[in-house]
Amino acid sequence: MAYIYDEMNIFARILRGEIPNNTVMETDHTLAFRDIAPQAPDHVLVIPKGPYVNFDHFSNVASDAEIVDFYRTAGTVCAMLGIEPSMGGAGYRAITNAGDNGVQEVPHYHLHILAGRNLGRMLNRV
Ligand code: AMP
Repeated sequence: MAYIYDEMNIFARILRGEIPNNTVMETDHTLAFRDIAPQAPDHVLVIPKGPYVNFDHFSNVASDAEIVDFYRTAGTVCAMLGIEPSMGGAGYRAITNAGDNGVQEVPHYHLHILAGRNLGRMLNRV
């Protein structure tokens, strides 16, 4: 099966400037902006500007430059938020959802950076 990218997904529309966003940081390859429905005091989404549906698509297909830029940007966002444990920050969680079992809602790769409160255990056993 191939990766199929939906050009009408909401993050594609944000990248085209059709929908506003609360930008935290922008580079040539990456955009970081505040989640519209934050699940923690700080909830930032980091997305590549290229058309990648999820983590494995991005990891397998994106260029080295895109991948380096993406993770450097995510790291810089952590620094901007003052949440890095090694710098005296209180920590954070960086997570990404993919596909049905991951309960991914927006089919454009994004990393959630959540911080500002104790986030509890990562998963509840069901
Ligand atoms: P996921 O379930 O991992 O696909 O997460 C999608 C995230 O996108 C959710 O946390 C939504 O609140 C967020 N979201 C949806 N639309 C927007 C938007 N227009 N601006 C910012 N965040 C959004």
